[in-house]
Amino acid sequence: MSDERVTPTAEAPTKAQGGRYEKTDHAAQKRSRLVRFAILIAGLLGITAIGYIHQIGVPFKVVGVDALCPFGGIETIWSLISGGTFVKQIAASSVILLAVTIVLALLFRRSFCGYVCPLGAFQELFGKLGKALWGKRRRPELPAALDKPARWLKYVVLVVFTVWTWTTATLVIRPYDPWVAWMHLTSAEVFAEFSIGLGVLVVSLSASIVYERFFCKYLCPMGGFLGVISRFSLFKVHREAATCIDCKLCDRACPVNIKVSQVETVQSPECINCNECVNACPVKDTLVVATNGSAATRKVLTPDKVLLAVLAIVAVLLAATTAVGSFAWTTPGLAAATPAAGTGAPAVPKVNVDDIKGSMTLAEVIAATTIPASDFEARFGIQATETGEKIKDLAAKYGFDIHTDFRTFVEERLDAMRQ
Ligand code: SF4
Ligand code: SF4
Repeated sequence: MSDERVTPTAEAPTKAQGGRYEKTDHAAQKRSRLVRFAILIAGLLGITAIGYIHQIGVPFKVVGVDALCPFGGIETIWSLISGGTFVKQIAASSVILLAVTIVLALLFRRSFCGYVCPLGAFQELFGKLGKALWGKRRRPELPAALDKPARWLKYVVLVVFTVWTWTTATLVIRPYDPWVAWMHLTSAEVFAEFSIGLGVLVVSLSASIVYERFFCKYLCPMGGFLGVISRFSLFKVHREAATCIDCKLCDRACPVNIKVSQVETVQSPECINCNECVNACPVKDTLVVATNGSAATRKVLTPDKVLLAVLAIVAVLLAATTAVGSFAWTTPGLAAATPAAGTGAPAVPKVNVDDIKGSMTLAEVIAATTIPASDFEARFGIQATETGEKIKDLAAKYGFDIHTDFRTFVEERLDAMRQ
């Protein structure tokens, strides 16, 4: 070891001692940051592809965004507790995803935000654009007088939408959700139904060029929820004050502007477990991801091991729930009408109207329910020549709501046919 580098111990040199310290493996840190970003972008592309396949309906009938959003899980559980009713659009998959994010938060803070969330990935992509534009110059931060109260907005959004869901038992956040808008970008409904969400998306991504992870910091209700849980997280970022040289590289690396260099343990509910700070720190063993306790007793994990653990937890829980049939990747089709025994005439089928999705064609609904096309023409004005079109496109064209008007009509017609 050169006399420029010494192992940090309780007696190791500090900032006051001329900057001699044992350096971290910079190449390994850089690789770790790249791997995290690559995983985020892979998730963004993968989930966007699912959204696109859902819209076009080929080659599979995959689930839509409502089934792939953990916030939907919060809303439906709250709706069930408070009103005894599930939110109709929400699949069991959303509740499973919610459980996965809670397990992650109890172990590794908001790692769903830092490693998995596609909207977080999208913002980081725009953040990188900002970094390229700003170069070595430091990007601005919102003044504290504005930033601090604005951080509370996400908790307001969380409370407003869960209570609103409770009173209506419908997924009220849909039109305002930027991710739902993105997943409907190729749909005819995007401007009619999701224009507000689209506006939030454009503002959040544009703002992320200057203020990294703008939506995460100020508006995301899921981030607010996970932030509260992550207070109890097992692993957090710890700073060894004795070896810290006060370079503040950790502060500069943090996308959510936590002043890591001023605390011993990052307790902030804003921490998204990205470990950019750990991978920016130049002094070996000074910033670490670890359990609480003394240096001798605590369990320390490298950022790479944290990332692996997070991916393993997500993969195992999703694989297990998919294997037992709880997590659905494809939408259930409607059961086809079957002839009544001995008569040859079609029986009135038992169709669960909640299985009717906007991505289905009217012809599929007619085939499964045996409701004549003329009934849909009489009620909604849909022409017989349009039965091959998707219900969501017909809804946009004729101005009806699939989840209320259409499903209710089908249910009423089936009831009438049974009498
Ligand atoms: S404190 Fe560190 S781990 Fe937490 S968000 Fe900031 S950079 Fe990421
Ligand atoms: S990066 Fe942060 S923790 Fe590491 S030496 Fe610099 S100020 Fe201290």
